[in-house]
Amino acid sequence: SEVLSDIDTLSALAPLHNPANVAGIRAAQSALPDIPHVAVFDTAFHHAMPQEASTYAIPAAVRHEYGLRKYGFHGSSHSYVSRTASTMLGGDIASQRIITLHLGNGSSVAAIRGGQCIDTSMGFTPLPGLVMGTRSGDIDPAVVPYLVRNAGMTSEEVDSLLNSESGLLGLAGSSDFRDVLSAAEAGSKEASLALGVWAWRIRHYIGAYAALLGGLDALVFTGGIGENSADARVRCVEGLEFLGVEIDNHLNRRDASLSRIISPSGSSVAVMVIPTNEELEIALQTADVVRRAR
Ligand code: AMP
Repeated sequence: SEVLSDIDTLSALAPLHNPANVAGIRAAQSALPDIPHVAVFDTAFHHAMPQEASTYAIPAAVRHEYGLRKYGFHGSSHSYVSRTASTMLGGDIASQRIITLHLGNGSSVAAIRGGQCIDTSMGFTPLPGLVMGTRSGDIDPAVVPYLVRNAGMTSEEVDSLLNSESGLLGLAGSSDFRDVLSAAEAGSKEASLALGVWAWRIRHYIGAYAALLGGLDALVFTGGIGENSADARVRCVEGLEFLGVEIDNHLNRRDASLSRIISPSGSSVAVMVIPTNEELEIALQTADVVRRAR
């Protein structure tokens, strides 16, 4: 009941998610009153981030009063695919440096060392970081007050602009990556630019996170785009040979749905495609909590 009321109290941080989840937990509790109920958070995997990564450079009083910090999201997915990658790599987990790219409608990247997340691209909300289906990702925060002052927009309208009308949709007119790929192939300049901006941001983060990790052992693709689009994967690693990141064209284009390595044999960085399984991750974490509570 304490956890449930905490989730309720924190609704302001996630107005779309927390109230719906509280209602779901209450309904589940009344349908199944005799079993334990466990809440698994998409932020949990990122909780190990060092303070240097999670702290915003704004005054402490404001940060503390409003809970402003980087939380990160997609944690169940980053946790699942990085653990799977770690097993595939073998060797000593403590020294493994892995970057996981969750590329779907919502997209984020995480840097993982020794099984622990050290940084991730989403923040206080799931808006920053990569270019997504309808979300802008990183943008100069001064754009918000500028639009409020100069375009006569309300803060709600700017919020909706950046969350629901931006990203691939704002750049190319569709939030669906397949549409953008085919529009670019058909000669659309907007679609080509959209793909360019999308991949540029991803390469920016791969470089940044390789630096924070002090090197790289594996780069993992997951999510609807990362798992299914060989073209997208090629665009993400263009020019990264200097980091040891390379893709084997045949392995990349092979029709497969299982976890696999797509870098040439002998590469210093294993490039992997690992289908995510957030449901399994939630089940495993639930079983772990229940086991420890006994
Ligand atoms: P998700 O949110 O993880 O379900 O991913 C949705 C995104 O994956 C959409 O932008 C889809 O267009 C994209 N996607 C799914 N399958 C493919 C594919 N075969 N090629 C390119 N993009 C795909």
